[in-house]
Amino acid sequence: MAKTALITGITGQDGSYLSELLLLKNYKVHGLVRRVALEDKTHRLWRLRGILNKINLHAASLESYASIVKLIQHLKPTEIYHLGAQSYIDYAFKDEFSTLNTNINGTHYLLSAIKEFSPKSKFYFAASSEMYGKVLEIPQTEKTPFYPRSTYGISKVAGFDLTRNYREAYNLFCCNGILFNHESPRRGFEFVTRKITHAVARIKLGIQKDLKLGNIEAKRDWGHAKDYVEAMWLMMQQKKPEDFVICTGKQHSVKDFTKLAFKTAGLDYKKYLKIDKNLNRPADVQTLLGDHSKAKKILKWKNKHSFEMLVKDMVASDLEFVEKEGY
Ligand code: GDP
Repeated sequence: MAKTALITGITGQDGSYLSELLLLKNYKVHGLVRRVALEDKTHRLWRLRGILNKINLHAASLESYASIVKLIQHLKPTEIYHLGAQSYIDYAFKDEFSTLNTNINGTHYLLSAIKEFSPKSKFYFAASSEMYGKVLEIPQTEKTPFYPRSTYGISKVAGFDLTRNYREAYNLFCCNGILFNHESPRRGFEFVTRKITHAVARIKLGIQKDLKLGNIEAKRDWGHAKDYVEAMWLMMQQKKPEDFVICTGKQHSVKDFTKLAFKTAGLDYKKYLKIDKNLNRPADVQTLLGDHSKAKKILKWKNKHSFEMLVKDMVASDLEFVEKEGY
């Protein structure tokens, strides 16, 4: 019988790539989406455009236990990938209450519904390198203590602990993927990588003059989302549920990303980059660098895309996007 997967956050970058991967593996793919998304397909479901007729979307809310129970009782999915969250850090500062409530309760509701109504379902939680925040060790591994610097990071630590605790207390198959920043042409415009590649394309095509950025010394371990959804799936195929760091093990600054993105389009970043202090965060994460030794050993996973390939893919795609859409 075909395996079934339920994905929360299916409309996002990772949700769309994961759906494509699971369809290739002959899964029946179900997505939990807010009702508003179903009513505004053009704006909210654009990443799923190519596969909309192959997946099943269900209107439910991570803020409603009743709607989650109904869905899980009905589907009893083989695998549940919980990717849905308020994920953009700036919003986390501006709307801390809703970030904490939605992210923590949503995870707890799902785990509780699995325990009560579908204990055979495997559960994946999208934990995040933001949990390391003000890093206590370099590079970060599964054993590095957390020191989150935003309500988003705090909510992810809580979700991580809930997932681990349900695994230990109730013997459920629950695992955490501690994914470092992962980008792609489907990244939202609010993240720095997409902001940069979109600006580069607009500047190249003469519809934008400069690019304003905040903290360009911040360093990240950036990978390609396509590689990272494979790691999620691999974690769910193991005999034993465990937590894994997923990263490239290489670090670059926002400035490095900017330089390379402009260079890829044949431009010199120095002519266009402006620093705007208003874009600095109240408490930023200055450096993130992961160690994926455990994933390499147990999952046999390694990133296929290098930093250079990622930047090239994003710039090429944004040049095409701006040319076609005109904005
Ligand atoms: P994050 O790692 O989840 O916070 O991913 P982001 O892509 O939002 O930010 C990565 C880093 O880029 C952070 O340290 C930001 O402070 C820094 N950064 C510098 N300028 C900007 C900007 O204009 N927008 C965003 N989103 N981040 C910026």
